[in-house]
Amino acid sequence: MTGSPPPPFTAADHRARMERATRAAADAGLAGLLVAPGPDMVWLTGYTPTAVTERLTVLVLTPGHDPVLVVPTLEAPDAEHAVGASALTLRDWTDGKDPYAVTAALLDGAGRFGISDNTWAMHLLGLQRTLPDTSYASLTDALPMLRAVKDAAELELLAAAGAAADATFEEIRKVPFAGRRESDVGHDLAALLRRFGHSQVDFTIVGSGPNGANPHHEVGDRVIQDGDMVVLDFGGLKDGYGSDTTRTVHVGEPTPEERRVHDIVRAAQEAGFAAVRPGAACQEVDRAARAVITDAGYGAYFIHRTGHGIGVTTHEPPYMIEGEEQPLVPGMCFSVEPGIYLPGRFGVRIEDIVTVTEEGGRRFNNTTRELVVVG
Ligand code: ZN
Ligand code: ZN
Ligand code: ZN
Repeated sequence: MTGSPPPPFTAADHRARMERATRAAADAGLAGLLVAPGPDMVWLTGYTPTAVTERLTVLVLTPGHDPVLVVPTLEAPDAEHAVGASALTLRDWTDGKDPYAVTAALLDGAGRFGISDNTWAMHLLGLQRTLPDTSYASLTDALPMLRAVKDAAELELLAAAGAAADATFEEIRKVPFAGRRESDVGHDLAALLRRFGHSQVDFTIVGSGPNGANPHHEVGDRVIQDGDMVVLDFGGLKDGYGSDTTRTVHVGEPTPEERRVHDIVRAAQEAGFAAVRPGAACQEVDRAARAVITDAGYGAYFIHRTGHGIGVTTHEPPYMIEGEEQPLVPGMCFSVEPGIYLPGRFGVRIEDIVTVTEEGGRRFNNTTRELVVVG
């Protein structure tokens, strides 16, 4: 299951994405975009430097000009190989030269630019020093929906990543839980994700017993015991696209209360999923899931938003949260992951990745949402 092919995106696909991004920047009143190595650059160009160093690499997108990748001379051959000569122009700079002057020459001296959230501060400061009449906006704040609507090839990759995460759950439910540490089960999860084609594991949450009541708990040394609820939340990247799913299992026979809490979360997850349709605001998904938990009396114990987008990263816009009025559009992909967290006792979360279709929602995670009893 390893050695999978790279994402099927061509120089023409990347060119189209860069044109779309440049148009969106102009529509948002920006003079252009400055894109640092990271998810935006990968999505726009397919290029990721082997190491992100203090040497400046930046993609410059300005309306009316060809895209230019400013790159250190020693990395230029790799960049050219990755992006293909047809997609953009390379502008390399050699050690000893001022990379900000090279970049500034592409920016017409003034204006407001969108810049990748993960740009190193030293680079932003260098640009500001070189071009005092420029100003900068966070690219995610300025263009939150840039990568949100996925095309058919991206949807296929996200579906495949989801299926690999599902295969991981089908295997993990067979392993012994009682008597092993959370970290042991976490290692099993990571190994399974890789076995099913993931090249990168972003998180393996194993929250047993009271640890499950902390949604940010990853794995610890706690030995899992008979009677524990265990929150399993895991994902990463397969062929460049993300997976992220949660199932909560129980070691041995659950109590009536544990079953009830799990049933409430399952109903909330179902209600959130049912609210997914084109034109619905993101916050409606959150409200639908939250209403079920609130009506059952556990509203104070659902302490996070209902979902987040997914694509070339495992957390990105759009967010399913109160106040987010962005309408859903076919092709958007995000999690629906309500939970109930009872401090000092246990937690329950159920999470699927969902995409918006013309008819409503389609899940990329399809393992059972019943409470699974493990050994
Ligand atoms: Zn129990
Ligand atoms: Zn998750
Ligand atoms: Zn998630």
